[in-house]
Amino acid sequence: MSELSTKDIMYLPGVGPKKADLLKKEIEVFSVEDMLFYFPFRYVDRSQYYKIKDITSTSAYVQIRGTITAIQKVGSGRNMRLSAVFSDGDSSVELVWFKGVKYIEDKYKPGVEYVIFGKPSAFNGKYNFVHPEIESPDDAKTKQTAGGLLGVYNTTEKMKSGFLTSKAIQNIMFSIVKNILSSYELPETLPAYILQKLNLLRLHDSILNIHFPKNSDLLQKAQFRLKFEELFYVQLNILRHTKIRSQRYKGFPFDKIGDYFNTFYKECLPFDLTDAQKRVIREIRADVGSGRQMNRLLQGDVGSGKTLVALMVMLMAIDNNFQACMMAPTEILANQHLESVCSMIGKLNIKVALLTGSTKKSERDKLLQQLESGEIHILIGTHALLEDRVVFKNLGMVIIDEQHRFGVAQRAKLWNKNVQPPHVLVMTATPIPRTLAMTLYGDLDVSVIDQLPPGRKPIQTFHQFDIKKAGIYDFVRKQINAGRQAYVVYPLIQESEKSDYKNLESGFEQLKQIFPEYKICMVHGKMKAAEKDEQMQKFASGEAHILVSTTVIEVGVNVPNASVMIIESAERFGLSQLHQLRGRVGRGAEQSYCILITSVKLSKESRQRMDIMVQSNDGFEISEADLKMRGPGDLEGTQQSGIPFNLKIANLANDGQILQLARETALEILEEDPSLDGEKNFVLNRQLNQLAKGKINWGAIS
Ligand code: ADP
Ligand code: MG
Repeated sequence: MSELSTKDIMYLPGVGPKKADLLKKEIEVFSVEDMLFYFPFRYVDRSQYYKIKDITSTSAYVQIRGTITAIQKVGSGRNMRLSAVFSDGDSSVELVWFKGVKYIEDKYKPGVEYVIFGKPSAFNGKYNFVHPEIESPDDAKTKQTAGGLLGVYNTTEKMKSGFLTSKAIQNIMFSIVKNILSSYELPETLPAYILQKLNLLRLHDSILNIHFPKNSDLLQKAQFRLKFEELFYVQLNILRHTKIRSQRYKGFPFDKIGDYFNTFYKECLPFDLTDAQKRVIREIRADVGSGRQMNRLLQGDVGSGKTLVALMVMLMAIDNNFQACMMAPTEILANQHLESVCSMIGKLNIKVALLTGSTKKSERDKLLQQLESGEIHILIGTHALLEDRVVFKNLGMVIIDEQHRFGVAQRAKLWNKNVQPPHVLVMTATPIPRTLAMTLYGDLDVSVIDQLPPGRKPIQTFHQFDIKKAGIYDFVRKQINAGRQAYVVYPLIQESEKSDYKNLESGFEQLKQIFPEYKICMVHGKMKAAEKDEQMQKFASGEAHILVSTTVIEVGVNVPNASVMIIESAERFGLSQLHQLRGRVGRGAEQSYCILITSVKLSKESRQRMDIMVQSNDGFEISEADLKMRGPGDLEGTQQSGIPFNLKIANLANDGQILQLARETALEILEEDPSLDGEKNFVLNRQLNQLAKGKINWGAIS
């Protein structure tokens, strides 16, 4: 933070109260310093002039030199616009203004040479420029830095109507650089030894070059430094909290592998563990035996066998006289965990109980009492586990399934279920790109099950338009006649969305007519738990052939005989959701199929999503694609995290290497100076304190 952080942007020449107000409201720029940290989102090479005939539909910002050959107002009233013909000698293109018509008309005259700059858009089969920048060749020249690279700034519609265009921002930036930064050096925000070690550009030079690059090399250095710094402080913050926490809390040492674990391994395990499962169990074993409190994220694609790992980890706790619990995001899933755990531990003398929102009071009272007395070894449940009245005798291990469904606060709540916090294993089948995991769960160690149990056939995925449903139904019929079962999923994005329910219900009725010979059941979120259970049970037992549902079945549900997943209006789902849904099939030995049905009218992005799904079965690959397409702020799980994903310059989809460097650097520093008291780390402390004063509640993250 420099003294420029207290200099109101309003008082800069050319800004004033109106524009200052827009800057504050639209892009949260209050001070001169904020302005300097509003970076261009791209650069154009202004040393190059474009020819009009070379414009194509993919042209980005271009600069053209030429003259206006005609200019006139067209239309009237609200539709009035100013239209000019601009020629570069060879060919011509239309320039259009809807606003500031009079000003433009007075200022720019036919026959005079100008330089225009803007992004061509296609209109009526021709290209035009709407609200291009226009200036004299001399003015354009002064804009050109030696390297010719010119920053382009994001502006909102409101900003544009208030004449705060990219060019206007650039002018403001130019005046700050010329009038202030020529005699004032921005205070450095990274310690000198880091700058030196990593050969980073100083902050002052980085800011100058990010706005007005001297050449592309310096631009790159400036970007690198600013990205590094941004990611570095996020990592330093997370890791410092983790350090403080691990100093404050010891973990329960699980010293021994006892009878429960061993008997299970030798006598109950219905199949061999995959190598990946073995490795992960070893990693966890080392963690819980170390005397440290474990905080681990277990990532594994759908069907990779996380539940089994969870169970074996819980057995470790029981072997050491602790209780364990496992929390799932839905009742269906909690029920299923209960069933699979009970069926697997048949021979062991272990008491497992289920607690959900619909557990009856009498039953619950008894259960809570048994929990407190230590009679219950494993408690499986939903959010109901978080309630204060749920008290354990000695909780040593917490498993959270499908972590992305829970917020950080909920994780913290389970922490407090014992005087000393239990070990925590969070599991997710929505693989998170590594960069995101490092940021979102930067305080967790990560284990990955990167292998599916043997004998699984990759699911075949198809994309079909809804006009071709007849063929799809024939296919479903063949599968069912061969003994399989099918899911048909409808989008239910908003619980309150009436039309979604209508689609679901009418889809259900329709299917009953199309398949009169089959039994069809249905589940959705509005059903009572008992009703849901009954329907699920019908499907799981094989009594029903088709299950119509909303995304309540998205996570975890396991019916190995189901081999067809039909997703209606697939364009309304996100990639990770589609992948999760698809993961409901392909769980048995038979070839499974996923059919994505969309309308014929598809946006480019929806089509891209369908293509990715058809091409890839790999959850990690899909999550990377998701991150690239949507940006981290929109990915599931990031909203509740409290982490500011509106990073100013770094991009988690592309800057993985810089993030890795930032994390390693932060780790090294904390290793040497955990409390950052050293004199050379003074700057770090100051910056972290500044961050803490901001909007971010870092405390909530760990
Ligand atoms: P997820 O990781 O999606 O939670 P599950 O734990 O539900 O996956 O496991 C999916 C299926 O794979 C289950 O039916 C489970 O019994 C089976 N399974 C797990 N581990 C193995 C293994 N090592 N070999 C064969 N089948 C396995
Ligand atoms: Mg699971």
